[in-house]
Amino acid sequence: MSRIQCPRCLRPQGHCLCRLIPSLDSRTRVLLLQHPGEVNHALNTARLAALGLNNAELIVGEVFEDLPALLNQPGYRARLLFPAEDAQPLQAYGATEDPLLLVVPDGTWRKARKMLHLNPLLAALPRVTLAQGSVSRYRLRKAPAPGALSTVEAIVQALQTLEAPVSFEPLLKPFEALIEGQIAAMGEETFRRNHGPK
Ligand SMILES: [Zn+2]
Repeated sequence: MSRIQCPRCLRPQGHCLCRLIPSLDSRTRVLLLQHPGEVNHALNTARLAALGLNNAELIVGEVFEDLPALLNQPGYRARLLFPAEDAQPLQAYGATEDPLLLVVPDGTWRKARKMLHLNPLLAALPRVTLAQGSVSRYRLRKAPAPGALSTVEAIVQALQTLEAPVSFEPLLKPFEALIEGQIAAMGEETFRRNHGPK
């Protein structure tokens, strides 16, 4: 198999997902901060989310020097999508509310926590969480807790809550193809053994 990557979605040539990636408008602006360790992960779902949303940006790093400018976007309220005891569950925008600049760390919990530690501005942002009971359709990655979502699934759910009744489901299309490809590659049986119900 060719090891040449598509420069846009970073998938190997022949497995490019670009034709499935939508071009969606949102009131919410999404800022994805991706740990460098995630860039070449086979399931780089943050990148799929960033490519499919017109009002989104993905930045790779661990220490983000431009954070003050990135977070200070006129007309937006910056919020960090990350658990905390005082995190507010997301809800639909009120009529007069400015939309959110939704900041989403992308990495394992450990890497994401380290990212917050290294970027005090990030750690100081008010936090928001998804409504309870979100269950991932897929369990290809070691989930830190039951119901943990991939980054693109978390973003779809957040946007659908904030901007109801607008649907952001098309963002999941390339993700679904990616999962199907992974399952096919490893074989149904291995998939069930590794990722099926225990
Ligand atoms: Zn591509």
